Amino acid sequence: MKRAVVTGGAGFLGSHLCERLIAEGIGVACVDNLITGKRENIAHLEGRADFEFLLHDVSRPIEIPGPVDYVLHFASPASPIDYLELPIQTLKVGSLGTHNSLGLAKAKRARYLLASTSEVYGDPLVHPQPESYWGNVNPVGPRGVYDEAKRFAEAMTMAYHRVHGLETRIVRIFNTYGPRMRPRDGRVVPAFIQQALAGEPLTVFGDGGQTRSFCYVDDLIEGIYRLLLSAESQPVNIGNPHEMTILEFAERIRALIGSPSPIERRPLPEDDPKTRQPDITRARALLGWEPRVPLETGLARTIEYFRNLAATSRAGGQP
Ligand code: NAD
Ligand code: UDP
Repeated sequence: MKRAVVTGGAGFLGSHLCERLIAEGIGVACVDNLITGKRENIAHLEGRADFEFLLHDVSRPIEIPGPVDYVLHFASPASPIDYLELPIQTLKVGSLGTHNSLGLAKAKRARYLLASTSEVYGDPLVHPQPESYWGNVNPVGPRGVYDEAKRFAEAMTMAYHRVHGLETRIVRIFNTYGPRMRPRDGRVVPAFIQQALAGEPLTVFGDGGQTRSFCYVDDLIEGIYRLLLSAESQPVNIGNPHEMTILEFAERIRALIGSPSPIERRPLPEDDPKTRQPDITRARALLGWEPRVPLETGLARTIEYFRNLAATSRAGGQP
C-alpha cells in the first residue's frame, strides 16, 4: 500500500484530501497542529488502519517513521482573517514548514505536492490569470505575509526539484468552498451563508464590485489528485473560471436561502484584489480537468452543512 503524509490534513481542504487518498487505497499520515483546523474534520477517519493523526507543528522538523510515497503540504492559515491574526505563524509555515516538508520528501524519496494559491498573483493586472503571469504583490501590506510565504514556498519547491531532482507538483488553488469550512473563518462563502441563515446583514466589503470565481471542493480535490499523478512540475491553476462580483454573490446566497437579510457595506480591506479568475487552459490540456459542479449545487451542499452545524450547536454539541 502506498502512503501519503498530508500536512494541514485536519483543515478544510486537507480533510477532503485525506478522504480522497484513502478512497484511492493510499494510507494517510495527517500532520496538523490544529491552529485553524479541527479534529472533528477527520473524526470519521480516525481508528482506521490506513489513517493516523500526528499533532505537530510542521514549522519544526518533521519525523515520520517508515516509508512515504507522497508528501502533500497543505498546512497554512488560509483565510485572510486567520493570516492577519497569525502573520508570523503564516510566514513560518510557508517558509520553514515548506523546507521541513520538502526535507521529509527528499529523505523518503517521495513525490511532493505544494498547495499554493491564486494570491501569488496579488491584485492582478492580467485577467484572467495564466500561470505565466508573475503577479502584483505588495510585500509589506497586510496580505504580504501569506502571499510572500507562498511565493517563497514555490521558489523553494522548484529549487528542490532542480537541485535534488525531487519530483514536485505545485497547485495554485483559487477560491474554493464546501463543507468543513469554519462558519466564522471570515471567508466570504461561510460569512454570507452563516449571516443569511441567522437573518443577520450580509457584510459586503467595499462597493462589492470586486470579483471572485468559486470552485466546489470536490472539483478541486479531483484536479489536485490528477496533478499528483501527472508528470507536471510547473505550477498549475485549479479553480472555477465562473466569475462574479461579490455583490452578485451576496444576492445568490440570499435567494438560495430565501433570506430577508439586508446588505451592509463595510470598508474594503487593504490590498483586497479587485479581480480574480483562473485561466485553466493548462489544467484542461495537461490533466483533462475542468470543474463539473455548478455553483447552485455546491452552495446547496454547503448551506446544508452549515444548517446541520447550527442545529448541532443549538442542541449543545460541538459547533
Ligand atoms: P484551513 O485553515 O482549513 O486548513 C489549514 C490547516 O493547516 C489547518 O488544519 C491548520 O491547523 C493547519 N496548520 C496551519 N499551520 C500549521 C503548522 N505550522 N503545522 C501543522 N499544521 C498547521 O485552510 P484550507 O482552506 O483548508 O487551506 C489549506 C491549504 O490550501 C493552505 O495551504 C492554503 O494556503 C491553501 N489554499 C486554500 C484555498 C481555499 O480557497 N480554501 C485557496 C488557496 C490556497
Ligand atoms: N468579503 C466580503 N464580505 C465578507 C468577507 C469577504 O465582501 O464578509 C469579500 C472580500 O473583501 C473579498 C471577497 O469577498 O473581496 C473574497 O474574500 P475571502 O476572504 O473569501 O477570500 P480572498 O479571495 O479575498 O482571499
